[in-house]
Amino acid sequence: MGAICSSLAISHSSIAVSYLSSSSATSFLHCSPNSISNIIATLPTYRAGFSQTPLQVVGGRMMKPSSSSSPVSLGFSQSGETKEVQEEVVLKPFATSLSISPALLENLVYDALVWSSLNGLVVGDKSVKRSGTSPGVGMVHAPFALLPMPIQEGFWKQACELAPIFNELVDRVSLDGKFLQDSLSRTKKVDAFTSRLLGIHSKMLEINKKEVIRLGLHRSDYMLDAETSLLYQIELNTISSSFAGLGCLVSDLHRHLLNQHGKDLGLNPKRVPGNTAVRQFAEALAKAWNEYDNKRAVVMFVVQPEERNMYDQHWLSFLLKEIYGVNTIRKTLAEIDGEGQLLLDGSLAIGGQIVAVVYFRAGYSPNDYPSESEWNARLMMEQSTAIKCPSISYHLVGTKKIQQELAKPLVLERFLEDEDAAKLRKCFAGLWSLDDSEVVKTAIERPELFVLKPQREGGGNNIYGDDVKEMLLKLQHEKSKEQAAYILMQRIFPTASLSYLIREGICHQNNAISELGIYGAYLRNNDKVIMNDHCGYLMRTKDSSSNEGGVATGFAVLDSVYLT
Ligand code: ADP
Ligand code: MG
Repeated sequence: MGAICSSLAISHSSIAVSYLSSSSATSFLHCSPNSISNIIATLPTYRAGFSQTPLQVVGGRMMKPSSSSSPVSLGFSQSGETKEVQEEVVLKPFATSLSISPALLENLVYDALVWSSLNGLVVGDKSVKRSGTSPGVGMVHAPFALLPMPIQEGFWKQACELAPIFNELVDRVSLDGKFLQDSLSRTKKVDAFTSRLLGIHSKMLEINKKEVIRLGLHRSDYMLDAETSLLYQIELNTISSSFAGLGCLVSDLHRHLLNQHGKDLGLNPKRVPGNTAVRQFAEALAKAWNEYDNKRAVVMFVVQPEERNMYDQHWLSFLLKEIYGVNTIRKTLAEIDGEGQLLLDGSLAIGGQIVAVVYFRAGYSPNDYPSESEWNARLMMEQSTAIKCPSISYHLVGTKKIQQELAKPLVLERFLEDEDAAKLRKCFAGLWSLDDSEVVKTAIERPELFVLKPQREGGGNNIYGDDVKEMLLKLQHEKSKEQAAYILMQRIFPTASLSYLIREGICHQNNAISELGIYGAYLRNNDKVIMNDHCGYLMRTKDSSSNEGGVATGFAVLDSVYLT
């Protein structure tokens, strides 16, 4: 156990937050984030797969030599026809360049698999029946990248610096009930799930329910656009931000591998920043529990009935107990409905135990509410005095529709000081509602440059490529109110590099792209901000041909970062 603890105890001393120079930031987004003509002017040349040009391993990834790249500009002609598209491979300038021999690769994979098994970098194995319900039964290593993904330190710092601002933004937006209700008013008419969430929110507004102690455990996800060299936010997760536990272990794994083999690889283990996500999340939960001020109360993890990612969650509950002496319980929404009770003083009791903090690792998807029982549970928790992570308001702030509303001109400025608003806006990609006929027209003509997103979380729900066109035409044809269920987003094209992705003990070589997640923790009691930090990171890497992301959904693998 000691070994496991120490592997998680690495501090993030190497991650000093500093201000990023905006000199590289020449994007259209600075002047007019939603201008479609600007977007077309700067949209990336599509980066196809690698050609026959020899590859080299750079910073642990195989890259196409820069001499082979052939940048061209791409845009719309006056007539709206597509200009000729040429391939371009945009490369990252890494100092280190090396090749991995088959023997070294075999060693690395073997060591990594042993390390994962010894250190709890595991998930339930889907081929074993009880692996999602019984801990210790049917475990397999979590899918991971063999070597960390290189990222320039400036982008890393920029993303870290944004986390406390996003934390504050979520808190402020959550207090504006009218903004949330108005922004989602049309969506709720066509999206039953959003409507139910909004219904609970309305009830809380009616009874004037105030959340005095507010806890947010968020993760803001980014992709680095190769063409513009800008970091763009993909989404902000305010509910069930997962992989703080296993993500930390992947950072430790990569450091371990570079400690063992770094000389052969020409890579320095110190360039993999320590990852404090799970420790800081545990700290935030413990501090919230402390604010609730009832030593006998517990932290309740709201979980899905079957959860193959349970060990990620168990890392958090384990640290809560080990470091802070806080007891946790795990309950499904149905169990909470069956065993839960609102006491006269408003506190939430589950089977006689008072709950100080409700931590949601379920409840973000319609599938989590198969019957009225689950909705009853959600409402009961919301009405209680327990600290909700997230509250219904925090949950709604994380919806894609609100992300799009916040990207409209001058909306951020309603909630943040101008300087902070400007920093966030820099990372906003183009986001539009389907009311914008000019953008919809462009998306029908060039669907590959957009992502069409419904109000869903958890991966596997977005629409890409020709399906964007088909869906938009269908919605247009039917003059459907259903348009309000979707938002359109500019598609981001990160640089692809050849990576080693390990799944079920087998090493695959893929052209891969990555998504960087930065965790943020926010805790507030009335006027006092107790915690507002960035806390660790999650890199996820996936085959560049895969549209979707998500580790649990099988698209991506866990990764860490190599600062260059
Ligand atoms: P979810 O709530 O399902 O995680 P996301 O908005 O994060 O929804 O989208 C899921 C995945 O789709 C992301 O992890 C990313 O891989 C891909 N994706 C989403 N938006 C974009 C985009 N604008 N450009 C490129 N890929 C995207
Ligand atoms: Mg996501």
